[in-house]
Amino acid sequence: MSDPSFGEKGGEPPPTGLTSRLKEFRSAGKGFWANVTDTDWRDWRWQLKHRITSLEQLQKFLPTLTPEEHAGTLLANTKLAMAITPCFFNLIDASDENCPIRRQVIPRIEETGTAPWEMSDPCGEDSHSPVPGLVHRYPDRVLFLVTDRCASYCRYCTRSRLVSNATGYDFHPEFESQIDYIRKTPVIRDVLLSGGDPLLLSDAKLEYLLTQLRAIPHVEFLRIGSRIPIFLPQRITPELCAILKRFHPLFISIHSNHPRELTSEVREALGRLADAGIPLGNQSVLLRHVNDNSEVMKAHIQKLLMCRVRPYYLYQCDLITGSAHLRSSVRKGLEIMDSLRGHTSGYAVPQYVIDAPGGGGKVPINPEYVLSHNRDRVVFRNFEGKVFEYPEGADEIPLVREAATRFAEPQLV
Ligand code: SF4
Repeated sequence: MSDPSFGEKGGEPPPTGLTSRLKEFRSAGKGFWANVTDTDWRDWRWQLKHRITSLEQLQKFLPTLTPEEHAGTLLANTKLAMAITPCFFNLIDASDENCPIRRQVIPRIEETGTAPWEMSDPCGEDSHSPVPGLVHRYPDRVLFLVTDRCASYCRYCTRSRLVSNATGYDFHPEFESQIDYIRKTPVIRDVLLSGGDPLLLSDAKLEYLLTQLRAIPHVEFLRIGSRIPIFLPQRITPELCAILKRFHPLFISIHSNHPRELTSEVREALGRLADAGIPLGNQSVLLRHVNDNSEVMKAHIQKLLMCRVRPYYLYQCDLITGSAHLRSSVRKGLEIMDSLRGHTSGYAVPQYVIDAPGGGGKVPINPEYVLSHNRDRVVFRNFEGKVFEYPEGADEIPLVREAATRFAEPQLV
């Protein structure tokens, strides 16, 4: 039966049971590690040490491993290693072979295929690298790769050529030469620490790096890109937050793809970062059978706001080798964006982008709202499909003062 107030609410369907379930904050729990002490479980080093990294462990904890996953895991160490923190592993639904958490971290045999348009370095980072471990692709900012290690490895990782060091990529950046390049390049005002995951570095190393960068007068803005708050929320300790808050303006971009990743432990960790005054944004990757669904995406972005995180980018999955089974179509991405804009808080709506293959940078991709645009008017539609007109302005009208000056000039006759 239809909701009688449906029309009054702007034609929005009422939230379903799925939305409510997805938006619940649940604990990842100890699951298979019930006998571990609370102190160990909350210790990020314990979590790292007990990651699932082998087929034997995976079979033990996930008896429902499919033949595709079994074969993929056997070969993972030749392409992108497998590692899954226990707390993230507990989010997997063992009874569902299409579980969105499972698809992100358990290797599959499809990863060994390469479509003709796929690349090992789809964003052309290596060709924009003035010194090892530094990518200078945009005019005023650089990507500073500080490590090739992550707490867990995402099967669609755009930097899979170097993270986990499974392919023998020569990743040996020297912080001094990276910092030196930044110091000698005054146009750089924004430095993004990435990797791998920068928050895997020790507190002392992070503090050293941030201190060095803050001492460079032209570096106005620091950023850290990290999936640690999701994979390893235990790492967000009060001590780490106390260090980070000394280097403002410092922003952190987290990486979450599905509402189930936002557990109560993750929300607490994000709260600690936000309380340290760190603005938080989220970058999601559009992934097939993970989040390429309007209801899931809407629940995710709304839940991010509840965690004090602003959804920032939604990436079309890069053309990284072996990712075809995880890539959704751009058509689907646009359809999802159309279902968000106007249908929920503007703060919740990320910018959908394609990182142009080969190194062209991020390009925003939007559903079409402008229907026609000429000298006199722009015709556009709103989120409900209603059509509106707006009269075009005249850019050539001078400022009042300019006009007054011009009229005050003596007139030659
Ligand atoms: S956390 Fe980031 S860098 Fe690490 S595997 Fe995932 S996408 Fe790649």
